[in-house]
Amino acid sequence: MAKIPESTIDEVLSKADIESVVGKYVSFTKKTGQNLFGLCPFHSEKTPSFSVNSQKGLYRCFGCGKGGNSIGFIMEIEKMSFPEAVKYLGDQYGVHVEWGEDDSKGASDLKERKKRVMNILTDAAGYYYKALNSNAGKAARDYAAKRQLSQKTLVSFGIGYAPDGFDNLYKFLKQKGYNDADLKDSGLFTVARNGNLIDLFRGRLIVPIFDAFGKIIAFGGRNLGAELPKYVNSPDSLVYKKKNHLYALNFAKQAKSKQLIIVEGYMDAIAMHQAGITNTVAALGTAFTDSQLQLASKYAEEVVFFFDSDNAGKNAALRASQMMLSYLRRMTGIKIRIRIAAVPNGKDPDEYIKNDGVEAFKAVVKSAKDVNDYLFSRAYDDNYDADSGLDQTKFQEDIITYGSWLYDPIKREKMAAQAAQYLGARSETIVSAMERAENDDISKKFTQDQRDIEREQNKEIEQRQQTSKTAAPKADIVTRDEMELFVRAVRIGPSLADAKRIARTDVLRKNDFGGENIKEVITFFLEHFDASKGVSEALLVNKLSEVLFNGMPAEKFYMAMCDKVPMESTPEAEIDMYKKTLYEVRGKKCSKELLKLQGRLNKEEDPAKKQELIANIEKLDKYYQLLQQKSEEL
Ligand SMILES: [Zn+2]
Repeated sequence: MAKIPESTIDEVLSKADIESVVGKYVSFTKKTGQNLFGLCPFHSEKTPSFSVNSQKGLYRCFGCGKGGNSIGFIMEIEKMSFPEAVKYLGDQYGVHVEWGEDDSKGASDLKERKKRVMNILTDAAGYYYKALNSNAGKAARDYAAKRQLSQKTLVSFGIGYAPDGFDNLYKFLKQKGYNDADLKDSGLFTVARNGNLIDLFRGRLIVPIFDAFGKIIAFGGRNLGAELPKYVNSPDSLVYKKKNHLYALNFAKQAKSKQLIIVEGYMDAIAMHQAGITNTVAALGTAFTDSQLQLASKYAEEVVFFFDSDNAGKNAALRASQMMLSYLRRMTGIKIRIRIAAVPNGKDPDEYIKNDGVEAFKAVVKSAKDVNDYLFSRAYDDNYDADSGLDQTKFQEDIITYGSWLYDPIKREKMAAQAAQYLGARSETIVSAMERAENDDISKKFTQDQRDIEREQNKEIEQRQQTSKTAAPKADIVTRDEMELFVRAVRIGPSLADAKRIARTDVLRKNDFGGENIKEVITFFLEHFDASKGVSEALLVNKLSEVLFNGMPAEKFYMAMCDKVPMESTPEAEIDMYKKTLYEVRGKKCSKELLKLQGRLNKEEDPAKKQELIANIEKLDKYYQLLQQKSEEL
């Protein structure tokens, strides 16, 4: 974990209020006490069990158990590391975040490795670019000319050529001083059976793949002829996860359009940019992913998809529609309009622009259908045959399936009403069938989500065990009483520092607790105890997020306990309950100690030591009586 000063973290947590941070992903539909409720973005559900408490600065889901502060929320939902999430929120809420040196060796090693890989990729791009303009690059230049790629396009997209041969790039990069391990990390090579590294791209036109900020993170290679495979692409690597990126987004975001056009391949995207349709991006795998939609939603209010008109393209369109609708059902706070376009006569966008011109293409974009209308047409067209007419059974099946994907009741009703005309059924009946299908789907997904969440949590637990500072066995042990005491101490907040209400001896201490981890948290809590307002729970949760309690992520254990410890009716009663709990915890410790001493006394033979033990027992017993008495007086 990187060293970001705690004051910065505290500032980010206080400025990035949980309601607005979460509100970008979740819309709240209900308010109960201090809690706002909405549908959980982390698991499938029909009624809201996800809550946000602005006063505490925490979120929590009663369905799947996820919970934490705004930094934790961003880590979960944006799949960011801790420092990345702090920086991300800092940028949005005007807090300057310094990236400190990494304090764990593993993290800084990884950072260094990533840096070296980025350097390799940049050097490789330079090599390919030069090769395109060398003698060897003639075939590639001819191919680019055949595809009508202009010189300007070749330059601005950094297009290059990987010459034929097995080790051209390898030799070039070795000469630059890179070692085999780093070259392997770059994803630019495959490993031969004898262990040698072989250039992945050979005899191909090379397209560098940039991230949203214009850094090269991978490459795509297009064959110059008809041989297969047509495309070879970088595999996922240390710096590249293809499902998280959109090709040409670094250029498209400069168009400052509220619309992003999404095409299937990078060659299409390049052609569209050249034709002046500069708000185009391309998906980087066979399937469009939810991370890509999330990324798109940061730059646009509307996405227009072009899928190939062959069967594979049609299937991809259905898959993407289902995925996007299911994603938007969860992320109720993300508003993005989804439209699906079809180029006439089954051409691809590139071809169509070349033959029919940019204006005709813009008209196609304009006529793109909203996803619900597209799905209706699909259900109809896929099951209609000129000879036998509409296959009603299949049409009905498809309509119910597609309708169950629509989470917007108005769109669903509209689809049902349209379908009712063809099916001779009442639209209400169709809507209920869609709802049933939706419920089945949600309960199926719920089980799967639960499994995913469990798996994630196990990974998290393992990680915390590894980075744990204390190697003591059972360092994570916390009893129910101890946890209640801690929760109550946090709850009474400033009063804890008010000597008139709580005597110094009645302020909890590190040694009231047994386990190392809880001791560490208590130390943190007491050190940060600010006389005027107490430590913020969001910051406390930040500390808890480093350790385990009873084998569970500590912040989850803590938040679950907050719900379980009953609230008292007045602040005075809260203070009394705090004290009662404290006396109970101390009393239990006392009686355990007494038992131990008694055991020793029974075995002790030396009269002097016996006397000493008796004195100790008497002292402890007196203290125990005092605790009991104080507790009764409350
Ligand atoms: Zn949940």
